[in-house]
Amino acid sequence: MIVAVLGAGQLGRMLALAGVPLGMKFRFLSTSPGACAGDVGEVVVGPRFDDEDSIKRLVKGEADIVTYEFENIPARAIEVAARYAPVLPGALALTLAQDRVDEKNFFRSIDIKTPDFHAIATRHDLDAAADAVGCPFVLKTRRFGYDGKGQRVIKSRDELDSAWEALGAHEGGLIAERFIRFDRELSVIGVRSSRGETAVYPITQNVHRDGILHTSFAPAPDLSADLVERANAIVTRAMHEMDYAGVLAIELFEVGGDLLVNEMAPRVHNSGHWTIDGAQTSQFENHIRAITGLPLGPTSMRPGIAHAGMLNLVGDHPPVSKLLTVPGARVHLYGKAPKPGRKVGHLNFGAASESAVRASMEAAGTMLPR
Ligand code: AMP
Repeated sequence: MIVAVLGAGQLGRMLALAGVPLGMKFRFLSTSPGACAGDVGEVVVGPRFDDEDSIKRLVKGEADIVTYEFENIPARAIEVAARYAPVLPGALALTLAQDRVDEKNFFRSIDIKTPDFHAIATRHDLDAAADAVGCPFVLKTRRFGYDGKGQRVIKSRDELDSAWEALGAHEGGLIAERFIRFDRELSVIGVRSSRGETAVYPITQNVHRDGILHTSFAPAPDLSADLVERANAIVTRAMHEMDYAGVLAIELFEVGGDLLVNEMAPRVHNSGHWTIDGAQTSQFENHIRAITGLPLGPTSMRPGIAHAGMLNLVGDHPPVSKLLTVPGARVHLYGKAPKPGRKVGHLNFGAASESAVRASMEAAGTMLPR
């Protein structure tokens, strides 16, 4: 079986690392040479993801399925790819995830809570948004934002002019979201196969630094059965409503016992990287199983691992020889050149106790460049 992937970054690389043992081959489409998935499969380089000739070279009449590893590919790329092979997850999830307003309207339409928000197209709308949502609020671009890029917190109306100057011209408009003083950030990662089978991973607690995921813990500490049930219902409902196939990650704010959806990613997600070493079946393997119609694997913790943690390596990392000295660390490097703000790898940890996981992560943290 041949899996074609739009994108060739670390997520594509880890999809191949999970799918190759199942007897699959991977081919990736990248818009720049030297992409890190090239270590584990063939990379086709083209000018754009929706370029028909590039997609033809990617699929070559032999790929069984096309998937994507990041959501900022043009929706047209899916349309073009679908002429040559089935594409999963489908266009609906991708287009919803590409627009923060459409995404929130979707969740609200299926009775799932989100932070209050206001869509903005003009400078006048920005004033109206400040009235409707109230200060402080988070001003974000509707489209093409990631890792905290294209957003800022507006503390008072005095900041509206400069915010409009910085973000107002953004293609696709802006969104104002009520600033949520959340108790913590969680993510729930579900998977649904093209045959309709579903499973959900243990809920993960995430800590961001400078808008980029820093650490994840799973299962999130002190989860009540009721909260787990509500989080599982959110992702299961969303997958069902979109007739989804693949892994779906939903980022949540927990506030006063409520769960509000921040955003979704129609793909494998950084907050699920712990599953490679901590879960019985990784999110990468289950994504591949889901889109190829194979039975899903169990999503529960691996025997002997009651708690898992993940520490992102951002910008640069110490040599692998040093990383391997961290007790209990499983090292995952992406083969990418160092660059500020770039995700270059992650460390996974797993143990019978949460304190053991945290102790190892602290030890690792002292070795990392801040
Ligand atoms: P996002 O790009 O929407 O995932 O936002 C990146 C990070 O900014 C989130 O993980 C939160 O830590 C923070 N953030 C985003 N939206 C809000 C909000 N409405 N209220 C408070 N914090 C937010």
